[in-house]
Amino acid sequence: MFEDTASALFGVDGLQIAGVEAAPDGGIEVWAVTDHEAARACPECGTVSDQVHETVVTRPRDVRRAGDAVDLRWIKARRKCGNQECSRKTFTEWVPAVPPRCRITTRLREQAAHEVTGRGITPAEAARHAGVSWPVVHDAFAARADGLLDRPAGAVAHLGIDEHRRGRARFALDEQTGEYLLIADRWHTCFFDLGGQQGLLGQVQGRTADDAAYWLAGATPAWRDAIQVVCIDLCTIYASAVRRMLPHATLAADLFHVVQLAVKATGDVRRRVVRARYGRRGRSGDPEYGIKGLLVRNLEHLAPDQFAKVMDTLGGDRYGQEILAAWIAKEKLRDALNLRARITGSTPCERDVRGRLFCFYDWCTQHDDIPGLVTLARTISRWENEIVAAVITGITNATSESLNRLAKLEARQAYGFRNPLNQQRRVRIACTRGYRRRSLTATPRRPQLVTGQKHDPG
Ligand SMILES: [Zn+2]
Repeated sequence: MFEDTASALFGVDGLQIAGVEAAPDGGIEVWAVTDHEAARACPECGTVSDQVHETVVTRPRDVRRAGDAVDLRWIKARRKCGNQECSRKTFTEWVPAVPPRCRITTRLREQAAHEVTGRGITPAEAARHAGVSWPVVHDAFAARADGLLDRPAGAVAHLGIDEHRRGRARFALDEQTGEYLLIADRWHTCFFDLGGQQGLLGQVQGRTADDAAYWLAGATPAWRDAIQVVCIDLCTIYASAVRRMLPHATLAADLFHVVQLAVKATGDVRRRVVRARYGRRGRSGDPEYGIKGLLVRNLEHLAPDQFAKVMDTLGGDRYGQEILAAWIAKEKLRDALNLRARITGSTPCERDVRGRLFCFYDWCTQHDDIPGLVTLARTISRWENEIVAAVITGITNATSESLNRLAKLEARQAYGFRNPLNQQRRVRIACTRGYRRRSLTATPRRPQLVTGQKHDPG
């Protein structure tokens, strides 16, 4: 316990404040002496010593006070061990807040680790603020982060898989074979909890089917069995990994990427038609160029005059009608996707979704002279089951995409990572931080019990 107010305010157990002075550089100088029973015991044999060999002044780094640097000067004794058989002749006093051979207080280390883990600043910035080196903060952060991340993942019903470009690939020369070995892949495959509170579940280097399957194989069979739906982009590699490792799970295609494909097909047709018509690329002043922004919008978001402008521009000749056919195909595809419960308010029936997709295929078949539409219809038919599953379940990869944005932000803040393992740790902490905060604030507040009479100031 603290005996005086200054020691209580300073708040380091085992240190008693002897005096405080203003330092010339604007901070404060705090002089402290040891006030801890166990500090007098030899760390080797435990004998309590009363013989002081010499007195030393150490300056362990400590947290700032109200933003100002604190220059802590701890006067501590080097004691002689009274036990004749002990190998240790002398030892210096220590307190739990400043363990032996440490020149940084435990609370400074913890504060720096929390700043990186909880507030999301870089270890470099936290080190600058704390007045310590980068490796110190990084080690403190790594210890704290690993404690948080090593907990086994809870059950996941909806799994998202997406890729993330982590940086450039790195190679190292193998001395024995003389060949270059890949030590850091350009890509990370990331696994996300789409429905729950776990954010980014883990990453694996590379983006092949084997890489994704390798990560899934590391999970327990019970965890894999709990997965009901896996949502992916239109990516055959991840689809094959999921079919291999999670044969029971329903595969859903992310609908944003389906619409994106249709929008891209419309744009491709427009660019090809404009080139055929004018013999050059489109430019400002061309009627087709003037409506290119309207063609990428959803039909229901067009104002009546905008819709009329599209129809007037494209309805005139065969060039315009080709673009119009592609645009209608996109809207017919969206018709099928718009059956999802988020828009209609009721769970769609599979037959309806397939019926509307059939209308889309039918339209593409009627315009099979437009190459872009045939390709689009082929791709969609290849992914039909996954698209129907996504419409019925309403599951999207939006969470994955938003967490990928955080992963990119982390890499930018760090000006890129050289060490992929470091990057995985920092990105995972960043992509679970929001969920950790939410679980903290979700705890109901305990009502404060007031016992006894309230102090009346006046
Ligand atoms: Zn001893």
